[in-house]
Amino acid sequence: MVQSKVKGPSKVEVIKENSDYLREPLATELAQDTTHFSEPAIQVLKFHGAYQQDNRDIRQERRQAGLERDFRMMLRTRQTAGVVPPDLYLTLDRLADDYGYGNLRVTTRQAFQLHGILKANLKTVVGTIVRSMQSTLAACGDVERNIMAPAAPYRDRPAYVYAHEYAVKIADLLLPHTSSYYDIWVDGETVPLPEIAPDVKAARETIGGSGVRVDGKEPLLGTHYLPRKFKSAITVPGDNSVDIYTQDLGFVVITNDRDELEGFNVLVGGGMGRTHKKEQTFPLIAKELGFVPVDRVYDLAQAIVAVQRDHGDRSDRRHARMKYLVNDWGIEKFKQVVEDYFGGDIAPCRPMPAFKYEDYLGWHEQGDGKWFLGISIENGRIKDDGSFQLKTALKTLVERYELPMHLTPQQNVILADIEPGWRADIDDTLKRHGIAPIERVSSMTRISMACPALPTCGLAQTESERVIGSVVERIEKLLYQLELADEAFQIRMTGCPNGCARPYMAELGLVGNSPGHYQVWLGGSPRNDRLARTFAEKVHIDSLTTFLLPMLQDFKRVRRPSESFGDYCDRVGFDYLRALEATELDAPTPKKRPKRTSKSVQIRQTAYERLKAEAQSKGVSLAELASQAIEAFLD
Ligand code: SF4
Repeated sequence: MVQSKVKGPSKVEVIKENSDYLREPLATELAQDTTHFSEPAIQVLKFHGAYQQDNRDIRQERRQAGLERDFRMMLRTRQTAGVVPPDLYLTLDRLADDYGYGNLRVTTRQAFQLHGILKANLKTVVGTIVRSMQSTLAACGDVERNIMAPAAPYRDRPAYVYAHEYAVKIADLLLPHTSSYYDIWVDGETVPLPEIAPDVKAARETIGGSGVRVDGKEPLLGTHYLPRKFKSAITVPGDNSVDIYTQDLGFVVITNDRDELEGFNVLVGGGMGRTHKKEQTFPLIAKELGFVPVDRVYDLAQAIVAVQRDHGDRSDRRHARMKYLVNDWGIEKFKQVVEDYFGGDIAPCRPMPAFKYEDYLGWHEQGDGKWFLGISIENGRIKDDGSFQLKTALKTLVERYELPMHLTPQQNVILADIEPGWRADIDDTLKRHGIAPIERVSSMTRISMACPALPTCGLAQTESERVIGSVVERIEKLLYQLELADEAFQIRMTGCPNGCARPYMAELGLVGNSPGHYQVWLGGSPRNDRLARTFAEKVHIDSLTTFLLPMLQDFKRVRRPSESFGDYCDRVGFDYLRALEATELDAPTPKKRPKRTSKSVQIRQTAYERLKAEAQSKGVSLAELASQAIEAFLD
């Protein structure tokens, strides 16, 4: 392996090197009767899909009582393109009840997370998943993570079908070769595994291009695997549901006018993570590398991974993502080096239409006579809570109709392959379990996201999932007071700068800074194709609406037709916004906002317009029309 840096390798590099291809000390410690793993085992465990956490809400209480932390494991599944077969969903639902906190969480990368698993139960839980022909291998760790694709199960749109097909193929292509996963979790037992396509199998064995193959049991990833996590997605032109610019490696399906797959436009070097007060760390959006024909896409994917393997920074993990390599070298040099590994020139990208944000919520025809239903899941949390029985409802429907589920990158769930005759029962089941139809979910809730943060995430500096609901509600109330009730913009919130909910692409990004305080990012686009920028270092969560007020007042005054809040912030610039901040801080006159959704506002508006037109056609005022209606009623 070629190392490009002169500084020594980081501690994690040493752990990987000594792990015997992701085996030790995990295998030994898993067999021990202890409540938690050592630091080296924790690092290896990540590659197997799990993080060691503890309940931070009770950390201090336990310390005072002389108890150790309440150690629990968070397990993440590998769900390429977010597709979850019905059997797996029912298995996970049961595992969450039997071994976790009784709920499931859809991640922003289309996978599931189970929180709250005791170390003693981890082998049972992973083993059960493996025996269901599924996996958690490489869901975390310094490897290619879950590959994303648009969640919509359109069966009659070839580009969507190709995106799913190649998400699976490239995920299989880049998967680690090590046998340690099956040795550890099912004791080497032969378990049925999903079929790998023959062309992928061949490419995994041959590893094309000079310099791509390395010696040892991992011919692509090597003894040390990648310098840092590696995230990829495949999408179709115009569909940015996967946040394509945030990926290390992004593919856009290119078809010809007969809808045949010609190849892919390839983007490289996106990434969200950064560290507060470390100016050398920053989010970046992916750049265009070029077009690859379909018969060479595996070679190019392997070449890009090998370039990051050999030249990514292995001494400083904060500088190890591929985005820094692309940024430090510049896209031209990066491309030249990739071409050397690839063994050929890379053509320029083919023209593509502009991207749009898509979420596929509500009912849609999927193109084969069946339907799919997108259900909004607040922050991806599938749970039962009083009369809100989402977990029970989904289990009932998946069991009754054997529905596959597609997880979306916005942490929502799509139920697919629904016969037209099942629709009424599905609507009724959801209603009886307290699940609001999409028309009754507020637009802002629909497009906002938060990471889990406290109490489970060890890196969280602030709350996120547990408070975003109240943040959205307060901002919606402010918009109502400003007579902007039908306005909605993307809010994304995280408990630390790692950026799991991709806050740096949002129209309003809130990044946990210190307890109760958030860094504010503004200027992202509603299409998620432009990076936001830091507007304020520290705003207390309780001051957020006061902080936003002058901007929203000005937005109302000077916005262009159909301009979104994010586009407005980007157009007017931060100096302009900061001047507003200094001059317009008056709070609006408090008004009591009726509890209703944007949809109901629209209905009332339509009713008002209809009555106004009727009054005009009769040549009477609205009041006269109303009194005529009352008299007619009393008659
Ligand atoms: Fe944890 Fe930070 Fe990711 Fe949130 S963004 S889940 S706090 S690592």
